[in-house]
Amino acid sequence: MESQKKYRPGFSFEFFPPKTAEGRQKLLAARDKFAALEPAYVSVTYGAGGSTQQGTLETIRDMLAAGLDAAPHLSCIGSSSEMLRDILQGYKAMGVKRIVALRGDMPSGMREAGEFSYANELVEFIRRETGDHFHIEVAAYPEFHPQAASAQKDLLNFKRKVEAGANAAITQYFYNLDAYLRFVDECEKMGLALPIVPGIMPITNYKQLARFSEACGAEIPRWLAKRLEGMGDDLESIRAYGLEVTVELCRRLLEAGAPGLHFYTMNQFEPTRAIWQALGLPG
Ligand code: FAD
Repeated sequence: MESQKKYRPGFSFEFFPPKTAEGRQKLLAARDKFAALEPAYVSVTYGAGGSTQQGTLETIRDMLAAGLDAAPHLSCIGSSSEMLRDILQGYKAMGVKRIVALRGDMPSGMREAGEFSYANELVEFIRRETGDHFHIEVAAYPEFHPQAASAQKDLLNFKRKVEAGANAAITQYFYNLDAYLRFVDECEKMGLALPIVPGIMPITNYKQLARFSEACGAEIPRWLAKRLEGMGDDLESIRAYGLEVTVELCRRLLEAGAPGLHFYTMNQFEPTRAIWQALGLPG
């Protein structure tokens, strides 16, 4: 973890583009509360195969309008270089300076990956097209990507993205501190020098979290799953216990030298604020 201690901690919030006008109004109200916490930046997800392209762009515009440094996520699977070039130029013209560069997942019904197969190719493309204009974040998987041929290969593939020009990484969420610490140590051994910021998923609804974790390959440790399962539909108890566990994880991460925290807010202010406040972060 030594390599991480030299970076100044940065805190960021992730949102998804709302699907309805009501959702947008709710996000605008939450945005102002999040802005008061003065994050380093906020990011906005992008649907598989570009399915939320317009929504991502509009949400980024809303974030920039509040004076926030806003990073659109951009995935490359199923996209052409022409399409990606247009998107990058559009973001540049809007004053966007950061991008979260991803491969993404093939949308159902689509069979051909297109011109880009992996995120390292997108990072290379962004650097080739726009030089150093964008600060590029990539995804990291302390518990390994579900499609990885092996843990060792996944680490080498992560290295490719860094060598292609990524400035920083955000991890998939996890509840196992050692997975993160070991991942960072492995990166250190490979000579990778970049901040690897833990992604934090607040626990509010166990059933939803279990479904989500199954799909993205994040593990809910047995001790945690059993406790949450035992609470059934008692959301209040799930939230209280989830808060205790997540705050403890964040505290230990920061003590170990993690260079910040990236919150998967799910567009909800309250769960992230509760963690923030318990950690004694400013705002
Ligand atoms: P990659 O880094 O390309 O890795 C994908 C898989 O391919 C891995 O198993 C890897 O080991 C392997 N691999 C990588 N490079 C090579 C190579 N050159 N040769 C052979 N194998 C290789 N999804 C969305 O649709 N929209 C979002 O906004 C979004 N945001 C995310 C934000 C974060 C912080 C994270 C952690 C994930 C996000 N995702 C998002 C999910 C992500 O798109 C999926 O996890 C996807 O399956 C992998 O994307 P990646 O960029 O990590 O892919």
